Amino acid sequence: MARQLSLIVPFYNEEAAISYFVQGILPVLEDIPETDWEIICVDDGSSDGTLHELIALSENDRRFRVLELSRNFGKEAALTAGIDAATGDAVIIIDADLQDPPEIIPQMLQFWRDGAEVVLGKRIDRSTDSVLKRKTASWFYSLHNRLAHIQIPENVGDFRLMDRCVVDALRRLPERQRFMKGLFAWVGFRTVTIDYVRAPRAAGMTKFSGYSLWNFALEGFTSFSSVPIRLWTYLGTLGALVAILYALFIVFRTIIWGNPVPGYASLFVAIIFFSSVQIISIGMLGEYIGRIYMETKQRPIYVLRRTY
Ligand code: UDP
Ligand code: MG
Repeated sequence: MARQLSLIVPFYNEEAAISYFVQGILPVLEDIPETDWEIICVDDGSSDGTLHELIALSENDRRFRVLELSRNFGKEAALTAGIDAATGDAVIIIDADLQDPPEIIPQMLQFWRDGAEVVLGKRIDRSTDSVLKRKTASWFYSLHNRLAHIQIPENVGDFRLMDRCVVDALRRLPERQRFMKGLFAWVGFRTVTIDYVRAPRAAGMTKFSGYSLWNFALEGFTSFSSVPIRLWTYLGTLGALVAILYALFIVFRTIIWGNPVPGYASLFVAIIFFSSVQIISIGMLGEYIGRIYMETKQRPIYVLRRTY
């Protein structure tokens, strides 16, 4: 019996890239023997003609399915929608801008047939990303992997093949705030990695600016590690110890030498330092409490308007 392959592609204002995407992906998929496939295009609340073009595609070719989200929910939510809708024995996640090369899909399938449950695409050359993006990404990975128990492989994006068992495991994770890279790593399974060179965008602009990447990184840290809030217990203890030692020193100095000039400056510095530390730690708590708040609402991760 033919095995089935589902591709999940998130689209957010990708009008300019769609035709390149279709031209790039179709020849690859049509060359794969003995495999039925479907492409699940998730329109993540695009405000340009993306949805229109996707619907036209699905009308001409039954193998294109379109999920229309009711607004822009973000890439993580769009992927979740795709994962929920995918029916394939294997599921591949790929970006719409051809930065993930479709040419390695046959190789991914080969590894999967040979028993791999996850096949990761790893970017060995990110020279198409800016220096700042590469540097901050590498800091993120090393800090994250030091803080959290779950190791996220470096330079691995969402481009990957997953067996049905992995998809089912992912769908059992109930959290609303979905840091997919972390969730993928959390479920585990037998994993193989394929290296590829990250191409420049086929058309259009990146949807992730500096601030949204920062928020994305915070999401990653807080989703998989409680070190950032637990840290303050130790810092506080350390500060208290130093304060006690200093207090003892002052007492003895006063007993031995009497009371010299009062320590106005040191007092002032200590007050400012420790109150700032307290405010930072409250902010850190806030990051977690805010997330607990969002989780407890149990809102759905995405809302579908229609499927085509
Ligand atoms: N994307 C999405 N929703 C968003 C932002 C992005 O579905 O809110 C999609 C986008 O259309 C693309 C993929 O996620 O297919 C990757 O986005 P992008 O290429 O902008 O990210 P980069 O490659 O620059 O990290
Ligand atoms: Mg891209």
